[in-house]
Amino acid sequence: MSPKFGLGYGSPEDQSFIAKHGARCHCEAVQYEVRADPVDAKICHCTVCQVLHGAPMQWAAIFHKRDVRFIAGVEHLRFYNSALDRPERLLPCKVSCARCGTLIADEGRLMWLAFPTLFDFGAPPQVPEAFRPTCHIFYGMRVMDVDDGRPKWSGHKDRSTLL
Ligand SMILES: [Zn+2]
Ligand SMILES: [Zn+2]
Repeated sequence: MSPKFGLGYGSPEDQSFIAKHGARCHCEAVQYEVRADPVDAKICHCTVCQVLHGAPMQWAAIFHKRDVRFIAGVEHLRFYNSALDRPERLLPCKVSCARCGTLIADEGRLMWLAFPTLFDFGAPPQVPEAFRPTCHIFYGMRVMDVDDGRPKWSGHKDRSTLL
C-alpha cells in the first residue's frame, strides 16, 4: 500500500488489529476490514447523495480511520471532491472503485464514512445493531418517506430543525 494513502489507517503489519467486519466492492478488487463497530450510523437524504449514489438515500456508518485497514485494491481507488468538483483526493471526498464503480465510502480527515451495504453480514444479512441508523439527515430533501421512528433532521444533525 502506498504509505501516502495509508496515513491514519490501521497498518497491515499491526498484529493487534483483529478484524471485526469485512467489506468489498462489487468486483472485489477493493477489500478492507474494520476492527470496531461504527461510532454512529445515519441516512442522508441530500440531493448530492441522491445523484452521486443513484439512489433515494445514502446509508453511512462512521469509523475512525485507525480502525480501518485495506486488504486489497488501494491502487483501484478513485476519488472525487463533490464540493469542489475535483476528481482528486481532496478531503473530504468520495471514494469509489475505478474498476467497477462501486461507491465505497466518504473519506474525511479523521473518519471513514463507510457504506454498510458493502459489508458481509451473511445471507440473509444480519445487520448488527451498531450499524443501524440513529437518525436521518437532510430529510427535508427526501424523495421517499422512511417510517422508522428515528429522528429526522431537516439538514445536519443537531444543527437544523427536527421534522
Ligand atoms: Zn470494484
Ligand atoms: Zn448527503
